[in-house]
Amino acid sequence: MNARCAKCGACLPVCPVYRQTLLERLSPRGKHALLKDGAADYSWASVRETVSACLQCGACGARCSAGIEVNREILDARAQNREFAPSFPALWKLFGSDLAWSGASALLRALPASSGIILRLAALSSSTADGGSHLPPPAASPLTSRRGMARFRSAADCARKKSGKFTGMKIAIFTGCVQNLVYPEIPEAMARWFPGADFIIPEHQCCCGLPALSAGAVKPASNLINRNIKAFEKARADMILTGCASCSYMIQKWHELLDRQDDKQKALNFAERLKEFTQAADPAIMDGHFNKIHGTVTFHAPCHSRFSTGGAEAPENFIKLITKETFAKMEQGCCGHGGSFSIKFPSISQGIFTERLAALKKTRASTVVTTCSGCLMQWKTRLSGADCPTEIKVIHASELLSS
Ligand code: SF4
Ligand code: SF4
Repeated sequence: MNARCAKCGACLPVCPVYRQTLLERLSPRGKHALLKDGAADYSWASVRETVSACLQCGACGARCSAGIEVNREILDARAQNREFAPSFPALWKLFGSDLAWSGASALLRALPASSGIILRLAALSSSTADGGSHLPPPAASPLTSRRGMARFRSAADCARKKSGKFTGMKIAIFTGCVQNLVYPEIPEAMARWFPGADFIIPEHQCCCGLPALSAGAVKPASNLINRNIKAFEKARADMILTGCASCSYMIQKWHELLDRQDDKQKALNFAERLKEFTQAADPAIMDGHFNKIHGTVTFHAPCHSRFSTGGAEAPENFIKLITKETFAKMEQGCCGHGGSFSIKFPSISQGIFTERLAALKKTRASTVVTTCSGCLMQWKTRLSGADCPTEIKVIHASELLSS
């Protein structure tokens, strides 16, 4: 990127980190200045913090009229220097292995329930994490466990027997780590929206690679990508479905991270068949069999939808179609999750989430619907904090349909 920063400051108010800290050094403009011009008077600790303190939300890039994408510059810096990475690249290797994917539940349940899941391990391996995890414990039966798979098959078989719009279509689910290990009820709920479809959950799939990429671990990320592409090749699905806006964002980027032309092409083919849940499901064919939700409903749009994969309007319209007059629009903003950001910078993350709570309060909603695993984790776990309203429910869009 050769664009010159006009120092206009337009990116400052949209950056969740700057809004909390009011530190020029941690603003997109400050980060750009550090990475492009250097800053001789910064201590190494300040440089490290500056490069680490970014949620990769993409708000700055969307706002900058000079076309500067600070989030990309940060990723490049993390990839070039391991000291900026929030966790050990070996961790991502572990999560690219069969052992971790199939045996993850046992592995993770052995950890204290208060300490989170995959990112809990990231936190444990991080040299600067300051404790304070806001991540949920793993599900008792992850999707890929025998019991989890039996539950999924029962929901998917039910949907297949109802002939309908999707009859004859083969749909492969890309679960992502969180919907496999923490919220296996989401893939189950998604299957119910596709009457007639034949579902498959390809074996040997793994993490989409976004946490690894965000940590600057490009090689482990590309290993995860190749492994996923191989896992889905055999499935020969008509559509690949994900319930996570962040996985969807990462899969659209896969081809950029691979070197070989044929691998790039395979990644592009994968991305072409991929649909985020609200892009593929159709509320109009569900005969109004929606969950009765008492009170007002609102939508939290994931940053990866707002800034990278087509905007928040389409998923919001999907939810409005179902919830009709009970829907109240919320002023959008980052939830403060940002993968390992919420572990590394728990108080900034909490501050960002507090802004969301204020926006939620204005809607008077008692149910928040979202479409991203990270946002779900952040909303659910932060709302379980001591000072939060206990009556707020947080659900994935697929859970609007009654089972
Ligand atoms: S990065 Fe872009 S938006 Fe931010 S100060 Fe520079 S020119 Fe302005
Ligand atoms: S990606 Fe988000 S958190 Fe990072 S500098 Fe840009 S606006 Fe700030």
